[in-house]
Amino acid sequence: MGARSMDEAPAGWDEVATRLRARGLRWTAQRRTLVGVLAGTSGHVTGADLVERCRAVDPTTTPSTVYRTLDVLEDLGIVRHAHGADGREEFHVRPAADHGHLRCDRCLQVWEIGPDEARSLVAAIEAARGFTVDLSHLSISGRCAACREASPRG
Ligand SMILES: [Zn+2]
Ligand SMILES: [Zn+2]
Ligand SMILES: [Zn+2]
Repeated sequence: MGARSMDEAPAGWDEVATRLRARGLRWTAQRRTLVGVLAGTSGHVTGADLVERCRAVDPTTTPSTVYRTLDVLEDLGIVRHAHGADGREEFHVRPAADHGHLRCDRCLQVWEIGPDEARSLVAAIEAARGFTVDLSHLSISGRCAACREASPRG
């Protein structure tokens, strides 16, 4: 379980238009394009990538519309953001559960740390500091096993 409070269940793709309208957002062609792109996306994707993919479908897409819509879609549980090594936002589409990330700073691979794996770490921080960890923003940089083996002292 993450720190996020869920006041509404995540929306299905078919409900997105209705949910956006309920938030006072019009269901425009640009938003329809973004939702279509997201439905075909899995794993981690940056906002810039999403803008690019939307522009491939609809060249009139503006970054501000994409980012504003992503904010609302995050409220609806459709996407969840984390941060890359450089601090840029990365989006997950319909994540099954909140998770943190391990990043190897040599080969730049990223692995997910699930709630079970993070439990003892999160519990220790909570017990020692009374601090509730947002698992989706837990990002640990270091050296993966393969890179350590290839270059033990590097
Ligand atoms: Zn953030
Ligand atoms: Zn590595
Ligand atoms: Zn992730």
